[in-house]
Amino acid sequence: MSPPEPPSAPGGSAALSIEDLHVTYGRAVEALRGVSLELPAGRVVAVLGSNGAGKSTLLRAVSGTLGLHRGAVVRGTVRVGGQALTGDPARAVRGGVVQVPEGRRVFAGLTVEENLRAGGLGQGRQSAAARRRARERVFELLPVLAERRRQRAGLMSGGEQQMLAIGRALMAGPRVLLLDEPSLGLAPRMVRQIGSIVREINRQGTSVLLVEQNAAMALAIAHRASVLENGRVRLEGPAAELAAGDEVRRLYLGAAEEDSPGPAGAGTPRPALSRWTA
Ligand code: ATP
Repeated sequence: MSPPEPPSAPGGSAALSIEDLHVTYGRAVEALRGVSLELPAGRVVAVLGSNGAGKSTLLRAVSGTLGLHRGAVVRGTVRVGGQALTGDPARAVRGGVVQVPEGRRVFAGLTVEENLRAGGLGQGRQSAAARRRARERVFELLPVLAERRRQRAGLMSGGEQQMLAIGRALMAGPRVLLLDEPSLGLAPRMVRQIGSIVREINRQGTSVLLVEQNAAMALAIAHRASVLENGRVRLEGPAAELAAGDEVRRLYLGAAEEDSPGPAGAGTPRPALSRWTA
């Protein structure tokens, strides 16, 4: 079950809006071909799609990091709180957009505390008191990070590293959190835990754009979802409707393979759409 639609934000404002976005890599690969998508303030929107559909590209376009991958926006706009972003990652962070990258890249040689400190560095004007408050909020939300605060990040489990990657992003006080496949490679119990954490982050006021291959997990958390295929939006709608319909099931799980294993290397079964609960 996806959460009920929360009341509309004042004026129905969009935290993030993407319009007719076209992205290419090395001027040859057309990764996005006219993607439009809106993240209303205070909501969770999921972006689903199989390998190569364009999900990470979409997040890179929003976080302004396409240039690092030799990609470029050739047409279309990305607006955060009504302001057009320019493809400058620092500007995106100052605009309140923070990405948790795929593969939970934490600084393995640094402690949990040092990783969290690094997460607040983009916020130059933050006072020491604001940084302390941000850290206390992260520890409340993710108590395991408080328990392990002096442990080196590289020694933590995959799930704990994912929590640290999320905690580090929260240190910057994002208005919009971009999550790139937070469930990847995690056991079902840990996936459920991460799902509950994302819900709580959203409940506390952060809008979330959640990229996932795990449709069951994402649709249980999100208010709305878009399904990408070959760089285009193939389906869009309320998450509950997509979860109940046949098309997402057919696209991701196969007609009779609800419990089939995930992609090679993930090592965990994909839960059925109807059975996943956060
Ligand atoms: P996955 O779930 O495997 O990460 P995805 O949906 O995130 O897939 P993208 O990584 O956005 O898909 O890839 C979209 C398309 O762009 C694919 O055809 C991919 O091969 C191509 N692509 C992605 N990154 C690059 C790059 N740095 N250079 C060239 N092509 C790229």
